[in-house]
Amino acid sequence: MWIISRTLVNKILAHAQRSLPRECVGVLSGHGREASDWHPLTNVAEGDHTFLADATEQIRLFKELRAQERDVVAIYHSHPRGSASPSSLDRELAAYPDALMLIVGMETDGRLEMNGFMTRDGTLEAVELTIRD
Ligand SMILES: [Zn+2]
Repeated sequence: MWIISRTLVNKILAHAQRSLPRECVGVLSGHGREASDWHPLTNVAEGDHTFLADATEQIRLFKELRAQERDVVAIYHSHPRGSASPSSLDRELAAYPDALMLIVGMETDGRLEMNGFMTRDGTLEAVELTIRD
């Protein structure tokens, strides 16, 4: 079970909305499967249909987290015109097997959904998310 607070979910959704029409990307840190902090990153991908976190920002963040003995719990991104399920590119780029891949789907007007996926035997499988108030 993966635990994310309502506050963090709201920060991710707000980040996804203000990044439109582009995808957003960011990290949740914490311990094990419980996320407690939010770290938005800059999407430097060309075009609006994918994401690539700014490498300098990402390396700096991962170093900081390691120094603080915190884990990268989840890496999130949004699909401005798609559902909250992995694209074929997401399946190829699932580069952090220990971190949860969170996807925000924004295809439905005014209704956002968020799903989590983990790599298992080379494929991404949906996992259960617990949102805590
Ligand atoms: Zn995607």
